Amino acid sequence: MKTTILGYPRIGKTRELKKACEQYWAGKTTETDLINTASNIKKDNWLNQQQIGIDSIPSNDFSFYDQVLDTCLTLGCIPERFKKINHNNLLNLYFAMARGLQNDHIDVTAMEMTKWFDTNYHYIVPEFEKNQSFSFFSKKIIDEYKEALSHGVKTKPVIIAPVTFLLLGKEKETGFDKLDLLENLLPVYFEILDELSKLGVEYIQFDEPCLALDITTKAQDAITYTYKAISEKFPHLKIFLANYFDCYGNNLNLALNLPVHTLHLDLVRCSLQIDDILHTENFNPKTHISLGLVDGRNIWINNFEDSLKIIDKITTKIPADKLWIATSCSLLHVPYDLNSEKNIQPDIKQWLAFAQQKLEEVVAIKHLASADNNDFVYLFEENKLANINKSKSKIIHNSNVKNRVNNLSASYSERNSTFKIRQAKQKHSLKLPLFPTTTIGSFPQTKEVRNWRLQHKKGQLSTENYNKNIAEEIEKSIRFQEHIGLDVLVHGEFERNDMVEYFGERLNGFVFSDFGWVQSYGSRCVKPPILFGDVSRKEPLTVAWSTYAQSLTPLPVKGMLTGPVTILQWSFVRNDQPRATTCNQIALAIRDEVADLEANGIKIIQIDEPAIREGLPLRKNEWQHYLNWAINAFKISASVAKDETQIHTHMCYSEFNDIIEDIAKMDADVITIETSRSEMELLDAFVNFKYPNEIGPGVYDIHSPRVPTVTEIEILLNKAKEVLPKEHIWVNPDCGLKTRHWLETKTALKNLVFVAKKLREEA
Ligand code: GLN
Ligand code: ZN
Repeated sequence: MKTTILGYPRIGKTRELKKACEQYWAGKTTETDLINTASNIKKDNWLNQQQIGIDSIPSNDFSFYDQVLDTCLTLGCIPERFKKINHNNLLNLYFAMARGLQNDHIDVTAMEMTKWFDTNYHYIVPEFEKNQSFSFFSKKIIDEYKEALSHGVKTKPVIIAPVTFLLLGKEKETGFDKLDLLENLLPVYFEILDELSKLGVEYIQFDEPCLALDITTKAQDAITYTYKAISEKFPHLKIFLANYFDCYGNNLNLALNLPVHTLHLDLVRCSLQIDDILHTENFNPKTHISLGLVDGRNIWINNFEDSLKIIDKITTKIPADKLWIATSCSLLHVPYDLNSEKNIQPDIKQWLAFAQQKLEEVVAIKHLASADNNDFVYLFEENKLANINKSKSKIIHNSNVKNRVNNLSASYSERNSTFKIRQAKQKHSLKLPLFPTTTIGSFPQTKEVRNWRLQHKKGQLSTENYNKNIAEEIEKSIRFQEHIGLDVLVHGEFERNDMVEYFGERLNGFVFSDFGWVQSYGSRCVKPPILFGDVSRKEPLTVAWSTYAQSLTPLPVKGMLTGPVTILQWSFVRNDQPRATTCNQIALAIRDEVADLEANGIKIIQIDEPAIREGLPLRKNEWQHYLNWAINAFKISASVAKDETQIHTHMCYSEFNDIIEDIAKMDADVITIETSRSEMELLDAFVNFKYPNEIGPGVYDIHSPRVPTVTEIEILLNKAKEVLPKEHIWVNPDCGLKTRHWLETKTALKNLVFVAKKLREEA
C-alpha cells in the first residue's frame, strides 16, 4: 500500500503568502521577494510530507492565486483584453487576470470568479471564444516538478484535466460549444505530458471533479476520448484520476472503463462506492484504487477502526499493492496545523485534525493496515479512545437539545396566518409608506470600530468602555438614518466581527481556532467556526443592542439575525449526525432569539440567509431533499413570530431561477436580494413565478466604492415597478455596508431615499 494526498494548503502556516502577495500588489516588495516566499512554502510542504511518510507527494498544487487561473496560463488561455499587458512579466499578467489592472495606460477588468463546486473556495472562471486556440504558455507545472526534485522530492504533478477545465469555463460568445474546443486543447496537454515524461515523471494526477456532477453524454464521451488518446500516446505514464466531493454516480461505469492507472474515490462523501467497485463486473484487475479515507473538507479526526474495515473489505477483491491510502480531496480546504492552537480545550482538540494531522493519519492508516504495525498500534488505541469519548461526551451531547429537535412538528414551521392576513396586520401596526426604505444591516466597520474590538479582546479596553463606544456608534448611526429619512432602521452591527462568528461565539456547541485559516479566494482567507456539539443559546444573543437601538427612536429598528442555514454552511460542522439535524438545532436557537426580540418590542426581524443557494448538493437529484430541510429550518426560526411582526430575509450573490419555488416557501414577509449589478435581471425569477410576498431588489452595488446616481437608482426602481405590484417593493442596497466608507455610504443612501420619496409622490 502507498500513501498520497491530492493537494496541500498553500497560504503558508502563518498566512505568509497572503501577506507577501498583498505587499507585492501594494508595490512594497519585489517579485523576487514574493517568489522567495512561495518557494519556502513549497519547500516546507514537500519536505514535511516526505518526512511524515507520504509516498506520492503532489506538486503544482501550489498557487499564487488560484489553480484554475494557473491552468489558464499553462494552456495559454488568455482573454483578448489582457493581450496588451506585457506577456514577458508572467506574474503581472497573472495578477491582472485575477484582479484587473487599472493605471494611467491600462484599464482591464478582472476575470470572473465563482465557487469551486460546493466549497467556499472561489476559482477564476476560464473564458473561451469561438475557435479558441491554446498553447503551452506558462511552464509552472514543469518548473515546480524540477523545483521539488532539487529538494530531493520526486512528485506527482497535479493538473486540472481537459474536460473539467472546459466545463469550468464560460463561452464568451455564442455559436459554439466549449466542449468542441477539446480538439484544440488536447495537443497542448500532450506537449505538457511529453515534457513531464522526459523529465522522468512517473505519476500524474488528473483532477476530474466534473465526474461528481450530472454531465451530458457529450461530456462523458469527451472524457473517454481524452484518456484513450493520452494512454495511446503515453502508455507508460501512470494517470491518477482524481474525482472528489461526491460519488462517480452515473459516471462510474465510464470511469471504470478509462485506461488510467489509478482511480481515486472520495470515501468520505461517498462510502458506498466501495460496494459498487466490489460488485461490478466491469472492474479492470489492473486498475489501482486510491482510497480517499481522510476527510479533506472537514477538521475531525479519522475513525481508524472504520477505515481499517473498509480496507479489509476492499482487499478481498483488490490486492494491497494496488491500493493507495489518501485524503478524500485536496487538503486546501482545511487549516494547516492543529498544533498552532493554544486556546482550544484539550478534550475538544483530541477530536480535531488539521492538514498536518491528516498527513499523519494517512500514514498511520497505511501502517495499521499492514502487518508491520507495531509502532502504530498506540495510535490506533489513542484514536479509538478519542472517538469513543466523542460519542459519549457531555460537552457534545445535550439531551434537552436532542429532545427538542426530535419533538419538532409541522406547526413549528408555519406562521399563524397566511401572508395576506399578516400583511394587512403589519400594514396597520407599522404604518410604513409606499416604497419603504431600509438597509441590509451593517454600517461601515471603520478602522476605529475594528480596533475597539481588537483592544477589547486583548484586554486593553475594558468591557465597559467597549460597550460605551459601541453604544455611541449605534446612536450616531440611528441619528444619521433618521436624518436622511430612512423608514426602517438598523443598529449597524458594529459589535459584530463576522455574521457567523458573532453568533457562534454566543452559542453552546461552537469553538474557535486562532489560526484555522482557509483560503477563500486569492489572498482572502476565512476562519470558519468549529461546530462540535449540540447547539443551544446560553443567553439572548442580540436583544441588548437591538432594544438599545430601538429605545433611541420611534421609527422601527430591525432586529438582525443570521439564519440557521448560513451558520451551518459557513462553519466546520460535525460529522456524527446529519447536517439537517444540526441545522434544526441552530434553527431552534434562532427561534428563541426571535421570540425574545419580539417580546422586547422589536417589530421587524431580519434573518439573513445568504448561503442557502451555495448549500445545494452537486447532483440535482439531491437538491429537493436539501431544500426541504434547509427551508424548513429557516421557517422553524421565523415562525414563532406573531402576525404583526414582520420577518425579513436577505440573500446575496444568488441565482434564484431554479430554486424560486422554495424561496417562496420560506414565506418571509419581505426578502431583500442583490440585483443592482445584473440590472434587475435576478428579479426575473421572482416576477415569472409571481412571487407573492414583498421584495427589496437591491439598487446600490455595495461591492464598489462608486456612489449610484439618482438617475441610476430611478432606472432600476422603475424597472422593478414595471414588473412588481408597487405595494410590494422595498428600496434598499444590495447587501450590508460594512466594507464601505461612511462618505460614499451617506451620499448613496441619500440618493436612495430621494428616489423612494419621488416615486411615492408620483404614485
Ligand atoms: N446583515 C448582514 C450585513 O449587513 C448581511 C450580510 C450578508 O448578506 N452577507 O452585513
Ligand atoms: Zn448580502
